[in-house]
Amino acid sequence: MELCDRFGRAIEYLRVSVTDRCNLRCLYCMPASGCAWKPQEQILRYEEIVVIVREMARLGATKLRITGGEPLVRKDLVSLIAQLVQVPGIEEVALSTNGMLLERCAEALKAVGLSRVNISLDTLDAAKFSQVTRLGNLETVLRGIHAAQRVGLHPVKLNCVLLRGINDEEIDRFALLTMTQPLHVRFIELMPLGNPEFFNPDRFFSVADAKARCEEWGELIAVEELVGSGPATAYRYRNGRGTLGFIGALTCSFCHRCNRLRLTSDGWLRPCLDSRTGVNLRDPLRCGVSPDDLDALIRQAVEMKPESHQMNLAMRQDEFETMCAVGG
Ligand code: SAM
Repeated sequence: MELCDRFGRAIEYLRVSVTDRCNLRCLYCMPASGCAWKPQEQILRYEEIVVIVREMARLGATKLRITGGEPLVRKDLVSLIAQLVQVPGIEEVALSTNGMLLERCAEALKAVGLSRVNISLDTLDAAKFSQVTRLGNLETVLRGIHAAQRVGLHPVKLNCVLLRGINDEEIDRFALLTMTQPLHVRFIELMPLGNPEFFNPDRFFSVADAKARCEEWGELIAVEELVGSGPATAYRYRNGRGTLGFIGALTCSFCHRCNRLRLTSDGWLRPCLDSRTGVNLRDPLRCGVSPDDLDALIRQAVEMKPESHQMNLAMRQDEFETMCAVGG
């Protein structure tokens, strides 16, 4: 039953965007005014997401990540996760969040079977945090991170987008955090996605340079296995309690290992973060598609998967996709 693409990659991982809305307006992700949100009736209902996930699992998917927009702004997300963890074949359901609403729901998420969380954290400086996220509060997110640790949503990963001139001076602070705390920092290269007005090659900072900075503090030892390490190569310091990961979205090619599809909040199955194309599952679902036809549509999306993404530093602004629309 395995889903395999034209390049021999087995598809085992589905990223499910549950909303395009977000309670933050990160500089690189969205314009200050936000995006033109999709009308409510276009957004997949929870029962529709469950039908798609069941079919994907029957075809071999074992891992899910819930994302957005900000998934925790969607009402009753806990009940969706409770249903998804029960789908036969699904072994892990993880969540990507900005952490603003995490403190109050971490316990409930853990209780229904969420495996772990990735929390976006681009700076450890409160004033800068407000500047980068426009609407965020660092203290609130730190409380969310502690709540995730307290309830056992391990490993807690922190996603830090490298922004030259904004947070590159903080790479050391993030690195040192992994020496003293069981936190897993992943440095991510800025991609030409999201807010075209912000993106500029001068703001780009490579993961190779970030890794060199981290190495100034001690030898980095490659970590053989960190659950769900995906496109990141993970390392730890000797005696370090956490790990460091480097996601070279533009400078390192990891597409050959890509095992994922993306379900947008309005029900398109996208073969790649960088794809403009995909397969509309929502309309057929609402017209009573048969399981066989749903299978065929999923396979069609897998067939469309490109060998690698085409994002690069020279991309024109009109070529940008909004991250919140695709699902980060
Ligand atoms: N709101 C959730 C969160 O904060 O994790 C999920 C969606 S968010 C779009 C997913 C991740 O994409 C975040 O870690 C964010 O920093 C990252 N992201 C958004 N735009 C990006 C860009 N242009 N380049 C690199 N990462 C980006």
